[in-house]
Amino acid sequence: MPFIALKKSTGERVDITKLKSPREELVKGDLICQLCGVPMIIKSGVVRRPHFAHQPSIPCTTNYGYHPESDEHRAGKELIAKTLIKELAGYSTAGIEYEWRCEETKRVADVAILFPNGWVVVHECQLSSITVEELQKRTEDYLNAGIDVVWWLGKNADTDTNRQWCLSTFGECNTIDFKALSTYFKTDRL
Ligand SMILES: [Zn+2]
Repeated sequence: MPFIALKKSTGERVDITKLKSPREELVKGDLICQLCGVPMIIKSGVVRRPHFAHQPSIPCTTNYGYHPESDEHRAGKELIAKTLIKELAGYSTAGIEYEWRCEETKRVADVAILFPNGWVVVHECQLSSITVEELQKRTEDYLNAGIDVVWWLGKNADTDTNRQWCLSTFGECNTIDFKALSTYFKTDRL
């Protein structure tokens, strides 16, 4: 349930978070999944942030490690992107993209900072439980592709063991406070 889809007619990448009124601006039937190419629809509600979705009967068949996302995960991605935009403002021309498809690792990064000289730093929002071994493996996959990675731990992934691993691996640990996040998105979004 992503923020990104492709226009079938032009191949153009569409970031739904940048559109004021997606149903006015996007043509029905012209949106496809960037991973598997099947048609996508727009989903939104009063509080729910607009996002794209497969039609429920058609799962995403792809070799990219990609799973359906929760509203919380989408909110987490937005929080990360907004934090990064604030941090980079004024001194960097780097672009920030949601759901950046990494060919080398066959992974979709939640948020990526794309620097004009080719450097990429991916930011992963991890809320579901994950082992240190898996964190290590995903991190190495990115590093071996020449891509730096930053983990943001929240909810079930925010354990002492995982925090400790982040601290000893990166010298820092980013966490996502979900109480603060939901308050923030209730007051500030839409
Ligand atoms: Zn798909």
